[in-house]
Amino acid sequence: MEIEIYSDETFINEKYMGIGCLFVPIHKKQEIAKYLSNLRCLNPKSHYWTWNFRDCPIKCREEYHKNNNCEIHHAKISKKASHPRRTISKKWIEFLIQNNKNNKELIYFNILYIDKSKLDDKFFGDKTIDDNVYNRFYRSSIKYTKFFFGNRVIIKNIFHDNSDNKEKHEYFPWHTSHRLNIDKTKIKVENNIQFLDSDHKIYFSNDKSSYVFESQFIQFIDLILGVTSQILFSSSNDSAKSEIACIVYPLIERLMKKPENINSSYNYFKKQNISIFPKDEINYSKTLDEKIQREFGQFHRNIKFKKPDIISDSESLDKWFS
Ligand SMILES: [Zn+2]
Repeated sequence: MEIEIYSDETFINEKYMGIGCLFVPIHKKQEIAKYLSNLRCLNPKSHYWTWNFRDCPIKCREEYHKNNNCEIHHAKISKKASHPRRTISKKWIEFLIQNNKNNKELIYFNILYIDKSKLDDKFFGDKTIDDNVYNRFYRSSIKYTKFFFGNRVIIKNIFHDNSDNKEKHEYFPWHTSHRLNIDKTKIKVENNIQFLDSDHKIYFSNDKSSYVFESQFIQFIDLILGVTSQILFSSSNDSAKSEIACIVYPLIERLMKKPENINSSYNYFKKQNISIFPKDEINYSKTLDEKIQREFGQFHRNIKFKKPDIISDSESLDKWFS
């Protein structure tokens, strides 16, 4: 089996570092990409998106195509954001939930939060160490490949949201694949990490036009990571963000409270996972790698969270359509 991985990071109040990875089986890649792009068409009579207005089967309006072609980014969702940005974000999250409820097996993700307050400050003493920690946990996230898909998986490509620090880092771009290939994990990684811009529009005008789709996967994992962080750590109380978070709440709640429930009607076991590291404080005594390796049983999900409140606005998402 061949897969690709798309990843994004987030930081919450200096306390948590979050890593989101979307695992895309290659034989389902076109289907998922089509779902995501078709959800950009907001016309109730059509559900078929074309990047170019010229190709639109219902010849709606050029400005719709321009506006619906926006970058989906959790940080940009707000009650003041454009109607297409809010609505498409909402539809993408509804797509996640429908995928789960109907057990379509299209969406695989792992989200890992590193609780920096429980790691000795020395782990995060300077910029490089921060990146070293990220690199180490990034590899643990990628290893979920085996949990989701079993043995003999080939990771064709790993994409990460653009990051100058990581791109220029001494070993981040190549280290994960190198270690997985020599670690006898039975996971083969064919290429080093590639960096992608999360705005797909920049890929229209150059020779990497297939990245238009890939870039949407970065947007999708950004959105999933963003709503999850909002629910778990109340990272925002913007009403548009809360409305979207409420849609995904039943899934996130189950992933946190019963991660191994194979009978859930949300069908997430071995497809989606959220965890936090570590359970107890870890002091800096051994080398970083050794220390983390030794205490790896320390993933947990033991935090308090609640469903976001929806403050009703005069401009609710549902009022809009086009
Ligand atoms: Zn159209």
